[in-house]
Amino acid sequence: MVDHAVPVCVWVKRDLRVADHPALAEAVARARGGAVFAVFLYEPEVLAQPEWDASHTEFQRECLADLEVALGRLGIRLVTRRGEAVAMFDELRRETGFRLIVAHEETGTGVTYARDRRLRRWAREAGVEFLELPQTGVVRRLGSRNGWNRLWEQRMEAPQADVPRSTGRGGHASIARLASAGILGCRDLGQSADTKDRQRGGEHAASEVLDDFLLRRGRHYSGGISSPLSSPTSCSRLSPYLAFGAISMRTVWQASEARRREVRANSLTATSPRDRADLKAWQRSLNAVQSRLHWHCHFMQKLEDEPAIEFHNMLRAADGLREAEVCPERLAAWQAGRTGYPLVDACMRSLVTTGWLAFRMRALVVSFASYSLWLHWRPTGLFLARHFLDFEPGIHWSQLQMQSGTTGINMLRIYNPTKQAIEQDPAGVFIRRWVPELAGVPPAYLHMPWTMPVAVQRSAGCMIGHDYPAPLVDHAAAVREAKRRLAVVRNAPAARSEARGVAERHGSRRDRRGAMQQDPVRRTLAREITRRRKAAPLPDSQRWLPFAAPESGGNPSPLDDGSS
Ligand SMILES: Cc1cc2nc3c(=O)[nH]c(=O)nc-3n(C[C@H](O)[C@H](O)[C@H](O)COP(=O)(O)OP(=O)(O)OC[C@H]3O[C@@H](n4cnc5c(N)ncnc54)[C@H](O)[C@@H]3O)c2cc1C
Repeated sequence: MVDHAVPVCVWVKRDLRVADHPALAEAVARARGGAVFAVFLYEPEVLAQPEWDASHTEFQRECLADLEVALGRLGIRLVTRRGEAVAMFDELRRETGFRLIVAHEETGTGVTYARDRRLRRWAREAGVEFLELPQTGVVRRLGSRNGWNRLWEQRMEAPQADVPRSTGRGGHASIARLASAGILGCRDLGQSADTKDRQRGGEHAASEVLDDFLLRRGRHYSGGISSPLSSPTSCSRLSPYLAFGAISMRTVWQASEARRREVRANSLTATSPRDRADLKAWQRSLNAVQSRLHWHCHFMQKLEDEPAIEFHNMLRAADGLREAEVCPERLAAWQAGRTGYPLVDACMRSLVTTGWLAFRMRALVVSFASYSLWLHWRPTGLFLARHFLDFEPGIHWSQLQMQSGTTGINMLRIYNPTKQAIEQDPAGVFIRRWVPELAGVPPAYLHMPWTMPVAVQRSAGCMIGHDYPAPLVDHAAAVREAKRRLAVVRNAPAARSEARGVAERHGSRRDRRGAMQQDPVRRTLAREITRRRKAAPLPDSQRWLPFAAPESGGNPSPLDDGSS
């Protein structure tokens, strides 16, 4: 018997949307005509995490503002409270008598992991059903990685969860009476102001960004995602929306599939060489972005399966490598963009201002911190998490470890900051923009300003060591030493056997029977890659197989991402 006087509670967290929202859909279905209300909590312990930044608060505020309107149209009230989760739900239960909370599974930080455990215990004791549903391709309580690709595909191809209007017979009165803290920004929460020049939040903005990418910008994804000059417009820029759940992964996947099919159909009838080239570029780009959508969940699954990797090396044999040697001066120089390596400094300064960097530049700044400066990934990762608007714990910590050589299963991928600068910003446009001290430096010296003769430094108005720092370390020598130390650890027999366990637990599978692998466009691309590889074998670090690249050395695809 459904008691219509008792409302159903939906807890919204990192799922700030109404489209394709399985938890909302389930709540409305389970209410069977009774009222449903949504709760969002401003949890002091979440806001106090070192990963949290004012920009996250403001992006979240924009998402919540959109959500409140959209929920209102569905007849669902959004109630917000400020406080610890168990205390808040206990209070709300006393006020409304709800017996069911529906939420999405969250693969979060240690703080939210512990909070969810506390809440589950409270719910058990209080006789409240706490139902958590998946919202991405991440599988809770996954026994083995074998077959995971297929599960992911099934989820992405399943119909979206439409949320019907809640008719809300009964139970309304108690919901209408509930106090709500409203939608809070930095000032309300006692935080310093958000100073980032960043993307706007909200479900509406997320749809616009997706459409703009799939209809216009995405044409240049393949080939345009590595350079800091082209990546801001060539990349999809969907990451903060996915991180805050302003759009679902399934919506993005299905929209990209629909576009891919459209492009394929058009390519069958295109006759002009220009149209054909254009459609081929689209095919390459859509294929490349779809691989990355898969990686999103692949990386999150690692943290879901082993929450400890937020704090500990995935390969425990690497414990002790860097822990005792974090040099505060080096860390501070890296954070401030004052390492003396222009591209690294430009990236760090641009990140702090905009909240975003493309994959290649993220990998570069981490590689520089972990290998050249020999900094442990945890403090560098916390700084980046705070400044990445799209901070997603599962991707973030897995990537930090991968780019620091502590997984045991990935090849070392060490980026040369000068080579990257010459390749990705040859004219120094990005560098001059973010490192104005170098604005007057002649092009011949811009990527290695420390080689400028003193007379040139004087005429350029940039004295090395005064206006702009001399290199903090000798990159080549530092990297030689880093490789030596890592080799000692990784080649030890115990580490090798431990690494096999890591591969078994976290490694991607070359699951060739998956539905997407049977796709004709993918088959064509795979054949093309095999042909190219036979013609000119790629070095190990550049091997690429659909979906297997993250394990084979850092995500690059020969289609779009070149060498390091
Ligand atoms: C050290 C490091 C830390 C990172 N931390 C985060 C993070 O906290 N949050 C985050 O979303 N991404 C993270 N990434 C992955 C990647 O850099 C970003 O997803 C991407 O730059 C976001 O921009 P975009 O949405 O335009 O990406 P696009 O290139 O357009 O890709 C589309 C989507 O695919 C997913 N994706 C893309 N690249 C990767 C990847 N290499 N691994 C996993 N998923 C990927 C993201 O969801 C992204 O939004 C990190 C990468 C590195 C090297």
